[in-house]
Amino acid sequence: MPVQDQPVIPAIDTVVLQPTPFCNIACKYCYLPQRNDTSSMSLDTVRAVFEKVFASGWSQPWLTVIWHAGEPLVMPASYYEAAFALIEELRPDGMEVRHAIQTNGMLINTTWCEFFKRWNVGLGVSIDGPQHIHDIHRVTRKGRGTFDKTIAGIRLLRQEQVSFHVISVLSTQGMAAPEEMLDFYQQEGIEDVCFNVEESEGEHVSELFAGADLQSSFRHFLQTFWTRSRQTSQIRFLREIDGMLARIFRPEDAPFGNAQVQPLGMLNVDWQGHVSSFSPELLGLKNAAYNDFLIGNIHTDTLEQMLHSEAMQAMLRDIAAGVAACRAECPYFSVCGGGSPINKLTENGSFSSTRTVFCDLVHRVPTDLILEALDHLEDGLADAATSRDMLAPVLAQAAAPMPSTPPTPSMR
Ligand code: SF4
Repeated sequence: MPVQDQPVIPAIDTVVLQPTPFCNIACKYCYLPQRNDTSSMSLDTVRAVFEKVFASGWSQPWLTVIWHAGEPLVMPASYYEAAFALIEELRPDGMEVRHAIQTNGMLINTTWCEFFKRWNVGLGVSIDGPQHIHDIHRVTRKGRGTFDKTIAGIRLLRQEQVSFHVISVLSTQGMAAPEEMLDFYQQEGIEDVCFNVEESEGEHVSELFAGADLQSSFRHFLQTFWTRSRQTSQIRFLREIDGMLARIFRPEDAPFGNAQVQPLGMLNVDWQGHVSSFSPELLGLKNAAYNDFLIGNIHTDTLEQMLHSEAMQAMLRDIAAGVAACRAECPYFSVCGGGSPINKLTENGSFSSTRTVFCDLVHRVPTDLILEALDHLEDGLADAATSRDMLAPVLAQAAAPMPSTPPTPSMR
């Protein structure tokens, strides 16, 4: 049966909002096309989004709202106070809304710390490791490194007891230095860590992705980092391992849902109210075949109209074909759910494709490492003690709630 003939009941899992496209810095690997644009999302647009989402009956009883796609903290805290209060006013009884912000950390001050605590924001700070690694790519428009301001923000968060995780983009230098990266996090008291391998997205072409042996380099990095971090117990949450562990050891009757391949599973709204779905990175990119990935505007279209728009149906048809092929041929499907549409399109030229370098790194490498550690335990091999160290704490953590809300793997 063609995909569009099947009854589709959306389940909105995550709303990604672009408070502003503007970013105060200019990372060399940035994929955001309008980062010089200082426009901002009006509160009328915020209201329109949540009136429609809450009235649709399609949102989950819990909803994650991620403020991203520009540097969110260039907007004043008072903007988010008003936006969060508005969403709270519209929120139906019994629904839980969790806000998450991904920031470069340079503008964090005590006002922001109080705000993060008051609203229990799932906060992510982007820092790529020690200064000589971070400052290679994370630079101002004049090319100056941003490390000093970012680490000052992180130290203030710790001083003010605001919980946060970090995202570190691994480029060539970071990938070669797992022990130095770990030493850095431990010295700075950073406990929750996510790694994103620098990838090609939008107009950015990653040198790392073009090179040979990326998979084995990342495998070495992750294995070394994981082994050493479990020996010291200072890293509480390592997304690549702990997030995957929860997927591998879930109850049989709990299928893994991949919101990135579900229609409206991720509702992505830019500052003007333009809406896309699937991978958040699609918003703002150009594509003639899919109407620049736009399915409507929150001010003029209903969610029902967006669901049945030509662009949505074309994307859904092709993404669903890719997921079906993944399901048929990939042994990692049960922990992946069909991957990331933006990476399939960027790497393979088509949504209706399967394996990517990205999925090798995000799904295959962590799964293989975890299963190998388990094998060592079961076979009583010489390194079983190490495997036990590696797995025991994470098995305990798998049952616990995640310490904060990590963003999708592509966010930087
Ligand atoms: S790991 Fe890759 S090939 Fe396998 S299901 Fe995921 S996206 Fe598809």
